[in-house]
Amino acid sequence: MSNAPSNTASEAALSALYQEMILDHYRRPRNKGTLDHADATVPMRNPLCGDELTLELEMEGDVIRDVRFTGRGCSISQASASMMTELVKGKHAGEIERLRERFRSMVMGDAEAAGDESLGKTRALSGVARFPARVKCALLGWSALEHGLDEAIAAARERESARERERAPERAGAQTIAEHDGE
Ligand code: ZN
Repeated sequence: MSNAPSNTASEAALSALYQEMILDHYRRPRNKGTLDHADATVPMRNPLCGDELTLELEMEGDVIRDVRFTGRGCSISQASASMMTELVKGKHAGEIERLRERFRSMVMGDAEAAGDESLGKTRALSGVARFPARVKCALLGWSALEHGLDEAIAAARERESARERERAPERAGAQTIAEHDGE
């Protein structure tokens, strides 16, 4: 396909918009901070660039109920983590894994993935594909998510079953009282 001048102009406009979105998330990161009851806390570093990030996850079953991150580093790493937290909150593990694969393909240069609307705002990072040295920056938050998700799901399951065990004697007790009071 040839590049018509109008095409180039709209590409430049899109690139400028994406640049603006990245800076906005870098300056005003979403979901930055810590959780009171995290099911997993995952520190992750990118020594190539000096980026640092700690991701915290709170689950409900295999759905991310809440997510926060802290960290410092280049605008790509921090903006990408911010955009990722917005995208994955409220989604279940299977969908998150699919999105992670798509995002990875996109920053590796897959044009089809860059057009995938399910990636939402994270598509602003599609231009990273032209800078291979920055791919690890863009993937830092996603790598933390990959490493922490199974652990978070297991911790949430344990939390749920501990709660069930606590409830069980209560129910048994209530039943006994009901029987005594009963007709
Ligand atoms: Zn970086």
